[in-house]
Amino acid sequence: MLYAPVSNNGLVTLPKIARDYLELISGEDAMKLTPVTGNCILIAKYKQDEEAGLAKPIRLTKKGQFTISGKHRNWLQLDEDTEVYFSIQNDKLVMSKAAKLKACLVCQMTGSIHGIECCICEGSGNIRTHSPGILTEIFVAFKNGRKYGMVYSLINQEQLPDGSIELRGLPKLTVRSSTKPYNYVLVIQEHYEKCIKEEFFKLNFQVDEWEGGMYRAIEI
Ligand SMILES: [Zn+2]
Repeated sequence: MLYAPVSNNGLVTLPKIARDYLELISGEDAMKLTPVTGNCILIAKYKQDEEAGLAKPIRLTKKGQFTISGKHRNWLQLDEDTEVYFSIQNDKLVMSKAAKLKACLVCQMTGSIHGIECCICEGSGNIRTHSPGILTEIFVAFKNGRKYGMVYSLINQEQLPDGSIELRGLPKLTVRSSTKPYNYVLVIQEHYEKCIKEEFFKLNFQVDEWEGGMYRAIEI
C-alpha cells in the first residue's frame, strides 16, 4: 500500500517501488494512463513503437513526478488536497483515490492497548479502509496483525475465485497471539465482535438477507 499527496495542479510523485515495478527511469521514460471502472486508472510504461498515436505519453520528471490531468483527476474523484493510492492488481499498477484516515476505535486513538502498541493502527491512532463495512476493517487488521504476532480467523465466510467474500452466516472472529497478553487480545476480539453484531443486526435487518450470501465484501 502506497500513498502519495497530489498538489492542486495535479502533480504527484510516483513512489520508487512503483517506478521500479514498471522499470521507469525518471526524466527519461513516459507512462500511459488508462481510466478503468471503479474510478481507477491503470498506469503502464509508454512504449513509443506500440503506442504512437494511440495514447498520450505522460512524462516522468527527473524527480519521479508526473501530472494527473484534470480529466483524470475527475475520473479519480479527487478533491483538493487529497492523496492517491497505488496498488498492484492482477499484475497491473493501479492508481485510485486514497481513503481518508479514520479514528482507530480499538485503541481509542491512543495508539496503544494496555500500554502495548496497537496492532490495528500500528500505533498511529488512525486507520484507512478503501471499502465501507466492518469486514474490510477486519481484513486490514488481519494484514497489520501478522507482524505483531496476531493470528485472526473469521469463520462462516468463504473466499470466491474473484477474491470477494461470501458469507455463510454471521461472521465470527477469533483472535489469538503467542506474544501478546490475554487482555490485549481480548480488547481486539471484543471490539470486532461488537462491530460485527452492530453491522449485521441493524434495524430492519433480516437474517435471510445475508444467509444466501448476499453480503459481499470486496478486496481492500
Ligand atoms: Zn489503534
